[in-house]
Amino acid sequence: MTLTVLMNAGPWLSVPPPGYGGIENVIATLVPELRRLGVRVVLASVESSTLPVDERIAVYPDGQFHALQRPYNQVCGVSQAHLAGVVRELHRRDDVDLVHDHVEAVGLATLAAMGPDAPPVLHTLHWDLAKHPELYGNLDGGDRVRVNGVSASQLARAPRALRDHSVGHVHLSTPLAVDADRRPAVAKGEHVVILGRINPGKGQDLGARLAREVGFPLVLAGPVGPYHRPEDLAAAGDEARQNPDVRFFHEHVAPYVDGDLVRWVGTVAGQERDDLVASARASLFPLRWEEPGGTAVVESLSLGTPVVATARGCLPELIEHGRTGLLTTDEEELGELVLAAGGLAADECRRVAAERFTPARMAQRYVELYDRVRQGAAKP
Ligand code: UDP
Repeated sequence: MTLTVLMNAGPWLSVPPPGYGGIENVIATLVPELRRLGVRVVLASVESSTLPVDERIAVYPDGQFHALQRPYNQVCGVSQAHLAGVVRELHRRDDVDLVHDHVEAVGLATLAAMGPDAPPVLHTLHWDLAKHPELYGNLDGGDRVRVNGVSASQLARAPRALRDHSVGHVHLSTPLAVDADRRPAVAKGEHVVILGRINPGKGQDLGARLAREVGFPLVLAGPVGPYHRPEDLAAAGDEARQNPDVRFFHEHVAPYVDGDLVRWVGTVAGQERDDLVASARASLFPLRWEEPGGTAVVESLSLGTPVVATARGCLPELIEHGRTGLLTTDEEELGELVLAAGGLAADECRRVAAERFTPARMAQRYVELYDRVRQGAAKP
């Protein structure tokens, strides 16, 4: 019997996303592999989504990404409106075997409130959950609603109500993870890269300071708040500093950016991003938050670049110290580790990524979890 899954992508961005888009990228990576395994996928997302699926439900005409800049209750309001449309659709039809939901927090509560006629729900947690535990309080869906994490550490830190409903975790994957011999080797340069949103949790200030002190070339790639290019940030007036990430950049990162040893290149995408990471001596993650899933970490391994990081969040699960990277709990040691990372083999990083972080593997794991959720929901 064919399994029909309603994949609820939420109201924020089209799938695949036009540029940055964590959840939408995960869905765009997962869905083709699920369909290859014979799963029928109904995608609930914004109308502009182009991902090939078996059926589409367009709940919003356009992505509501701008709403993410607003206060949190408005963000929830947009999510609620989206979910109301999904719930209406579920009441109308009876061919959905399972809802795979990706809408933060309110998704669970709304779907749980559908009652006993609802299909079972698997909700994937995408964030650091310590921040909004209250939003996950209402899980009155009983056995019909289950959650999964994107790492064991994310689940371990999650509020009790969520852990009690967990069916496990599935690590993130990347289409870049392919057999090592299918990827041409890229010549290594001297530079180190930090790929990610410029944000205190990602620790670019620490990385930039160490680069200057220890003397290694560092490229910072990623947006500063809504600004993707250095010239756009430069053109933005003082008002831009109302954004906390813009303020963080100006106050704590920019003083180390000299355009020579330490550079900020803005958001990089496509081949440019892949080449920048593949040619780096190491990817640095000087984290100050508990990284929940770490897409950029598995991308780095897939591109043959070892990871140097603070041992926070999911990093110890993804990185084998001494094989695919170097981890420490001592921030000040990171500079030294960057210099040592040149001794780690690019091939070994790619091999591990091709074993552990392929989209096919992620889809296989989700099919297992779908079974588990449906079996749990079928119990009297
Ligand atoms: N990314 C990118 N260009 C950049 C910076 C980041 O394409 O300049 C991508 C990166 O490759 C990864 C995603 O943005 O796919 C970031 O995901 P991650 O889970 O590492 O961090 P998040 O921002 O979701 O906390």
